[in-house]
Amino acid sequence: MEALIKNIKADGKLLAAILDCSSESLFKSLINKAAIIKEKYCGNVVYLRGLIEYSNICRKNCYYCGIRRDNKTIVRYTVKEDEIINTAKIAYEKKYGSIVIQSGERNDKEFIKTIDRIIRKIKQVSNGKLGITLSVGEQSYDVYKMWYESGAHRFLLRIESSDEDLYKKIHPNDEVHSFINRLKALENLKKADYQTGTGVMIGLPFQTSEHLAKDLLFMKDFDIDMCGMGPYLEHHKTPLWEYRHLLKPQKERLNLTLKMVALLRILMKDINIAATTAMQTIEPEGRIKAIQAGANVLMPNITPAQYRDNYFLYENKPKTFEAPEDHLPHLGKKLKTVNHTIYYGTWGDSKHFFRKNGQ
Ligand code: SAM
Ligand code: SF4
Repeated sequence: MEALIKNIKADGKLLAAILDCSSESLFKSLINKAAIIKEKYCGNVVYLRGLIEYSNICRKNCYYCGIRRDNKTIVRYTVKEDEIINTAKIAYEKKYGSIVIQSGERNDKEFIKTIDRIIRKIKQVSNGKLGITLSVGEQSYDVYKMWYESGAHRFLLRIESSDEDLYKKIHPNDEVHSFINRLKALENLKKADYQTGTGVMIGLPFQTSEHLAKDLLFMKDFDIDMCGMGPYLEHHKTPLWEYRHLLKPQKERLNLTLKMVALLRILMKDINIAATTAMQTIEPEGRIKAIQAGANVLMPNITPAQYRDNYFLYENKPKTFEAPEDHLPHLGKKLKTVNHTIYYGTWGDSKHFFRKNGQ
């Protein structure tokens, strides 16, 4: 089995076999290999993005997500404009270097204009120095381009699953949830010059190792600049809850996610890969393990306290304001124990983006 990881390449069967293999020693060798590649191509540094969960209002109804439109049991919120600007200013002063604005999906004029204004104001209060990543769903090319010109320069839009049949099993089958439109949106992000990120959920009901191998090949073929992927976590007020008996135990989903991170790092040596919140939800050390497996981006949650409880994507999502594990000095100390340092005050862009564009 160890022979499998000697020559890892973009081969679906090989990747699926590695994902399927339960050998402890294969797992360790895989993580070690990814760690060596990361050190060589990215260094043992971690970039920060302060994560602001801007709004839980969403026009979509994804079967897995706790803030889906039809969940009437949550209080809907949108962070006030001055609060988000102030939060971004604090992130700038604390030398996060970058923020991510994440939100439920809306495509009405008011939302589009507000996001645009927020981007411009954040650029103003940080003298143009705070990097802005957006993760606010599918929009038209013109909207993406407008936000880019206002100052956002990275965008994360997960494909969720690159297998159209699986995609259809986890979304309603209608225009608003079209796999083809999701792909088009990803293409448009590239065309609008963003550093483009995507990702998938790992451990979904109906998902096989072959699906996950296909996801890795999709990311490689699409030549993404960044990736944010994490374990699927159940939520009792969603349609997928009824299939929870099909799920692997959470610990297995975490280990599978770590393998996916390591394989992606080996296949795409210089992209940015995030250690995501869902990993930390399964295990407090989950994100640190992801860093050891090849991730190089951390996104501490800096959403203003009063809104936290309502960005309830899945069960047990950390809610406490300023969770101790998100305090930067604490994170810095943790990372030091695994031979990494935080790179403060930088945008922390994807090296891959500049290399492929010949810069
Ligand atoms: N609405 C935007 C979108 O869907 O692209 C951005 C926000 S959405 C909450 C961000 C990500 O959360 C989704 O891409 C999805 O992968 C993830 N997510 C939602 N529900 C989840 C769950 N139950 N378990 C794990 N991840 C989940
Ligand atoms: Fe809305 Fe995003 Fe959740 Fe889907 S995953 S319901 S688009 S917030």
